Parts: sequence; structure tokens; C-alpha cells
Amino acid sequence: MNEYDSNRLSDLVKKVGYQRTKDLENIDCYILNTCHIREKATEKVYHDIGRLKKIYKNKKKPAVFVTGCVAQAENDEMLDREPYIDAVVGPQSYQSIPKILQRLNKRKDKLNFTNFDVVKKFDKLNQIKNTDTKISSFVTIQEGCDKFCNFCVVPYTRGPEYSRSPLEIIQEVKDLISNGVVEVTLLGQNVNAYSHKKNGSIFKLSDLIFELENIKELKRIRYTTSHPKDMTSDLIKCHKISKKLAPFIHLPIQSGSNTILKSMNRKHTREEYLNIIKNLVAVRPEIKFSSDFIVGYPGETEKDFEDTLSLINNVKFVNSFSFIYNQRPGTPAFKLNPLKKEIQHNRLIILQNLLNNIQNNYNKNQIGKNKKVLIENKMKNQEKYFGRTDSFTPVVTENIDDKDIGKIINVRIKDCNKNTLFGVKENIDKEVAA
Ligand code: SAM
Ligand code: SF4
Repeated sequence: MNEYDSNRLSDLVKKVGYQRTKDLENIDCYILNTCHIREKATEKVYHDIGRLKKIYKNKKKPAVFVTGCVAQAENDEMLDREPYIDAVVGPQSYQSIPKILQRLNKRKDKLNFTNFDVVKKFDKLNQIKNTDTKISSFVTIQEGCDKFCNFCVVPYTRGPEYSRSPLEIIQEVKDLISNGVVEVTLLGQNVNAYSHKKNGSIFKLSDLIFELENIKELKRIRYTTSHPKDMTSDLIKCHKISKKLAPFIHLPIQSGSNTILKSMNRKHTREEYLNIIKNLVAVRPEIKFSSDFIVGYPGETEKDFEDTLSLINNVKFVNSFSFIYNQRPGTPAFKLNPLKKEIQHNRLIILQNLLNNIQNNYNKNQIGKNKKVLIENKMKNQEKYFGRTDSFTPVVTENIDDKDIGKIINVRIKDCNKNTLFGVKENIDKEVAA
């Protein structure tokens, strides 16, 4: 979501005469877009600003903005600690940035924009065309979270759940398609909680997917991140019927132990999660899954940890994210006694080894098979192209050229490593169906 937000921020500031640049030595404005999920991000902000200060020691200082969830959470504290920062702008106040830039040029005050005004934000962003030209692009459809897992800062930094109107989303997807985009990933902190109410009727994620599917040039649709609680039967059925929905879901579980799920306030059990997986496989047998895991949560016993390993062995996730539990101030879990660091580290290594082995085996099993790959871009300094299978696995393809970018082609897989498949184009002339 921060990648999407950063792109939209750059579209916003274009309107007041700013251009995105890679030349850090000659900037007028520096926007540092941040994530607050783990504490390291906050320290990174001060580190990055320290680097900037050195570059501009003998030059005119650029305007410095910290945006995103660190800005939301730390706001005035941040302005006090680092006077080099001119403004902190929370994720629901981005629409104010052009105004702040103009104001900063006139006055030298410190500005704190951390209101939750998500409606105003999207009203403003809707007026500005999304200029992303990547083959596969993001579109935020939902923001915020009402789930309040005990370990997580998101409900406090992104605010309550909000769903954009389908009309706005469809228009943004059409704009992206006119830029050359052919795959969209619908984004939300709880994307499958998407629910837009109008005139007494409710428009859900499955409705949106079916609407978007009618756009001829759109080849593939993905959505992320989903919460198990919102994996409703209409959405599961959508995976059976939809022709463009990719057979892949990122469905975080965090832990395979019911005791820990309860202590985390995840609002679902291990059995409910496995039932969702079973129902999805029943309607779409080729579907693949990835997940998020938190290791070493307070109170996690050896048995709880083994429950997580057995769940991983059961589902066979094709890729996943795993983190050591990070105590976040302001969350209910903050007051719980943390486990010893050594135990947490050892468990993370065991869990990641298991995930890696499963992913490796899955990739090895693809050797010799034909995969439908959406070619996204030519790789830097190479005669090879990057793309992804419908189940999100990265594929590096040889013997194709720029004309194949944006097409879904058949690739014969010849080799693999842990993360990537390597192959060659199979049917030279024929583009395959999504
Ligand atoms: N809403 C999604 C869900 O609940 O499935 C996840 C969104 S969260 C931004 C992304 C991931 O960060 C979570 O799934 C969790 O694994 C991880 N995370 C959040 N808070 C954390 C913490 N305090 N320590 C470690 N990992 C954390
Ligand atoms: Fe955080 Fe996701 Fe839980 Fe919301 S559902 S509190 S975003 S982990």
C-alpha cells in the first residue's frame, strides 16, 4: 500500500510543479513515506534524515515531509525531536500536501496534518489521474482496520475501515489501462472487508471483481491483504466463476495455535482457517496460498509453535512473510511479557526453513511444466524478461522480446531457485488466455 501511496503522492505534487527525481543531491522537497508495523522503521526515518542533512549542509535545505504511519503515530514528538522535518502528514491527509508545500514557501512554521479524513483524501485523489504505467499496478479500494488484533498498530495509524466507491475504482482502473496496465492488485489493509453501501444495497469485493472483469483489456485481477474473518462464501464462489481472478490468495493466519490466536484477538480459529482453505481448493483446485506468521508471541509455548508448523505442513504455502513478534507501544499486547529473544530467533529460523523447503519443492515441481506468465518488464542489463505466473511466482524468461511485455504467454520452466522460476517461451506466436 505504501508503494501505491507513494505513486499517488507523486501524482499529487506534480499539480503544484514538482517532479519525481532520483537525483538526491538536487531536490526541493523530500517526502519520506513510512511504515509503522515494526519499530525499526521509526529509527530509519531519523537515519535517512541525518543522511539528507549531510548532503545539504552547505546548500539550501529542501522541504522535508514525513508521511505514512510513523508520521501518524509519532506526529508532534517527531517534529520536536528532529527540527529538520517541516511537516508530518498521516496516511489520511495526503490531499493536504500541495497546500502545505505552498504554505511552507511563504512561512516557516512546522505543520502537523494527521487527521483521519479519508473521504476528503479520495475526493482529491479522484481528480488526479493515476499515472502509473507498470504492466501490473496497485489500486487501493479499502483502507483502515476495525479488527484490532492485540499486536498491531494499523487500526490506530490508518483509522477505521473505509471502502471507496466502485465508480471511483472502476474509473481508476480504466485510467491505468489507458496507461498500458493489464493486471491490477486491489489493495486494502483488510481488502476482503470491502463493502460499499449505496441506496440501501451493499456492493462487496466479489461484486467489484465481476464489474472489473468486464473491462476487456484487463487480463488479471488480484487482491490483498485478506482477513480470514471476511472470506465470505460469495468471495469463495467468485474464485470458481471469475475468468480473470488469479488462483492465489495471501491469507495471513499469524499462528496455528488456537490459544495464541485468541490471545492475539484474531477473531478466528485454526479450524475455521483450514476450512476456508478447503472450500477455496474445492472450487478452484489449482489455487495457491501465502500467509503472514508472527513467531514468539507472548505466551507461545513449544506446543503452540508446533501447531503453527503443522498448519504450514498442512496448507503448503508457496511463499510467506514471517516476523518475530515486535512489541508496539499503544497496542494491548505491549503489556504482555515478551519471550526470550533466543527462543524467538530459534523459532523463526525453524519456521522459515520449513517455509523455504516447501517453496523450494513447489518450484522444483514446476520444472518441465508450461506456465502462463504475464510478462512485466525487461530485466536491467539483461536479455531476459520478468513476469509472474497466475499463482504469483516470479518467472525469468529468455528468447522473448519487448513485444511480449504485457502479454500472457506460455513459458516452459527449465530451472528454478528458491524464489524464481526460469524458462523459455513455448508457443512463439500465440498469446494464451488469462
Ligand atoms: N490485515 C492483515 C491481516 O490481518 O491479515 C495484515 C496487515 S499487517 C499490516 C501485515 C503483517 O504485519 C501482519 O499480518 C503481521 O504478520 C505483521 N505484524 C503486524 N504487527 C506486528 C507486530 N507487532 N510484530 C510482528 N509482526 C507484526
Ligand atoms: Fe493489523 Fe491486520 Fe489485525 Fe487489522 S486485521 S489489526 S491490520 S493484523
